Amino acid sequence: MKAIKIGSAKSEPGKLTYGFIDGIELPTGIIEKIPVMIAQGLKDGPTFFLTANVHGFELTGVAVIHELVTEQLAQELKGTVIAIPTLNPSAFRKYHHKAEYDDRDPNRLFPEGKFKEKDSDNGDKEYPKLYEHITNKIFSIFEKYADYHIDFHNHSLLSIPYAILDRLFYKDESEKEAAEKLFKQQKEMVDSFGMLVCAEFPANKYLKMKLHRSVSGSTFNSLGIPAFTAELGENRFLVPEVITGSVKGTRNVLKWAGMLDGSIEQITEFPVPKPTERVRRFDHPRVKRSGIVRFIVKAGDYVTKGQPIAKFTDIVGRPLDDGYIRTEYDGYMVSLQTKMTVYPNDTIAEMGIKDEYPLVVPLPSK
Ligand SMILES: [Zn+2]
Repeated sequence: MKAIKIGSAKSEPGKLTYGFIDGIELPTGIIEKIPVMIAQGLKDGPTFFLTANVHGFELTGVAVIHELVTEQLAQELKGTVIAIPTLNPSAFRKYHHKAEYDDRDPNRLFPEGKFKEKDSDNGDKEYPKLYEHITNKIFSIFEKYADYHIDFHNHSLLSIPYAILDRLFYKDESEKEAAEKLFKQQKEMVDSFGMLVCAEFPANKYLKMKLHRSVSGSTFNSLGIPAFTAELGENRFLVPEVITGSVKGTRNVLKWAGMLDGSIEQITEFPVPKPTERVRRFDHPRVKRSGIVRFIVKAGDYVTKGQPIAKFTDIVGRPLDDGYIRTEYDGYMVSLQTKMTVYPNDTIAEMGIKDEYPLVVPLPSK
């Protein structure tokens, strides 16, 4: 078996072992440590990373890792599962989206990798800011050991579990064939999870949103390792059925990777939409004016073009326009916003609509 050492954690065949990576030193004399769990099987196989909680109030992944990564898993496994139950301990402690010492979205701070020339450099790149010290360390650990990776998130308070299929960028024609091969593997892996699969935003928006610097986007695009983001429904609290279904989904992916025996199991713990065509994430519907919104659909519902999604009124409850906000697309309501108040051009939901954009795309030159 491959000997793995990450921070103070060392692999032992047939065992679950623990340790910490030194993240960064804080001014008050303590070190932010990142916990690591290594479940190593008795037989050889791939090394699979599971990470959670880069956004501190997205809790489900922590519980999924606690349920799944056990001594018993180590007994069953071919290969090694390495789990990081929280990538962002200070945000977890504060029940906050971002690290206490870095005000930027931590899921946009993984290394630029092959996008380096594309991202504008303000001259500060050689001085990574605080959370980037942690992401650089995690990235180099992935680079050394990872064959596969899942990063667990929760989309919003009113959302359904789903998996994201990232776009894959290649630099020039000579990389295209390898990119298509990698993408095929990626798609099989994401499909094996057993939840709704939504393709990421189209290429331009993907780059603008710096999704190539998300934990899994960076691992997939820059390290060439199959990796995806799993959005496990409601954030801020734990739903037992989602935890059980997500453990099942993750075991499905380990089976796909040849690391566990047995066949892929259907997720029955919550409804899983089964679109007949590929869908992508899309922020929709958008409102034209300010007002008060009250949804009349639920997360997970399938809706058709023209269907009312929400009641739309002024503050004393009088209808605005025809009294409804309608969808202009067929698709699934993936996430509903929780605020009642909206301003012009706000979107009120994320939908999964038909995806007609390519998944494997040439990197724009500038
Ligand atoms: Zn997140």
